[in-house]
Amino acid sequence: MTPLHAEQRQFPVQDDSLQLGGIALPRLAERVGSTPFYAYERNHIQSRVNLLRNTLPPGVALHYAVKANPMPALVQMMAALVDGFDVASAGEMKTALDAGMAPARISFAGPGKRNAELRSAVAAGVLLHLESEEEMARVARIGDLLGITPRVAVRVNPEFELKYAGMKMAGGPKQFGVDAERVPRMLRQLGELGLDFHGFHLFCGAQNLSASAIQQAQRLCVQLALRLAADAPSAMRLLNIGGGFGVPYFPGEQALDLRAVADGLGETLHVLSVASPQTQLVLELGRYLVAEAGIYVCRVLERKLSHGQVFVITDGGLHHHLAASGNFGQVIRKNYPVSIGNRMHGGPREIVTVVGPLCTPLDTLADRMEMARAEPGDYVVVFQSGAYGMSASPTAFLSHPVPLEVLV
Ligand SMILES: *Cc1c(COP(=O)(O)O)cnc(C)c1O
Repeated sequence: MTPLHAEQRQFPVQDDSLQLGGIALPRLAERVGSTPFYAYERNHIQSRVNLLRNTLPPGVALHYAVKANPMPALVQMMAALVDGFDVASAGEMKTALDAGMAPARISFAGPGKRNAELRSAVAAGVLLHLESEEEMARVARIGDLLGITPRVAVRVNPEFELKYAGMKMAGGPKQFGVDAERVPRMLRQLGELGLDFHGFHLFCGAQNLSASAIQQAQRLCVQLALRLAADAPSAMRLLNIGGGFGVPYFPGEQALDLRAVADGLGETLHVLSVASPQTQLVLELGRYLVAEAGIYVCRVLERKLSHGQVFVITDGGLHHHLAASGNFGQVIRKNYPVSIGNRMHGGPREIVTVVGPLCTPLDTLADRMEMARAEPGDYVVVFQSGAYGMSASPTAFLSHPVPLEVLV
């Protein structure tokens, strides 16, 4: 038995075709003009933000982590929905500023920021999340040079880990942030350098589906920040406790219990507001806002039988969607949810392996998965593809055309 994915219900089906933004897939494909392509649905993004606004305790600011999906039209849409953007390069900062987000609401994190990036960030007036003492010294020099007081927060590498995170980003030796034990000394230097201190940033890990693990990490983050704030040169105005909210990609995974996360966060927020009433709590979410709103669509070129196994060969593959091929951080390859987008219910079903045109066995979009029997010209849809899709893929590999992206 092939294990089953949670059913994909985020988009309606009409005449056996998936509909995005009210447009049936074959028609959408005609509109886009070529396959493969990515499509992201505005309605889904809007309702995800509404769900968060209605569920999370009031008083929590919601930021979008641009790296999850930096498509300019999507970032532009997001600018009107969230309270701020988190960027991780000068390129993302440009996209964020172009989208009309106020510089005061943009934060810039990430190790290895180049001097040119720091300079442009200081000039823009965005908040720099300092990842090391060395970076702090460079930022201070750039501030002096430009005659601008840099706005900074300290990214802390806490001593605890986020349990059950798909990708751990803190705890133990890490390239991210400053080890918690070194932060008090760094804060004293920060004051001497005359930097404009705003607060702390803690990001423990991504792709977590356990509400209790997230609750616990959030509680620990706030406790740690309150302790560290005692050594800060000025009040902690901002505390970014990351996000890490996961989405179900693989068979057997359950959606995150947002209600439970919100309840825990309510208590944590209460602790913070009593101890430090001037602190704005920030959550930064990437995939949770956009992953489920997006699909990747490619077209069947050929059916091929090899030793009794059916291969469906498509015009898309790992060069466009590295994550779906299982090569973006997964330890064991598992299938993303994949369907034949113009045969959602009807027709005979079969077990097939869906592959792309690249000369490597890694170029697999679905490995022995049950789906409707597909013919050349049919549309293969990979769900949960709105985050870490095209921008996280090696599009130059084998020199095929780059897919288009549409927001519908
Ligand atoms: C990547 C990243 C995020 C977003 O992670 P998601 O899993 O997409 O929510 C948030 N904050 C920081 C610092 C990141 O590096």
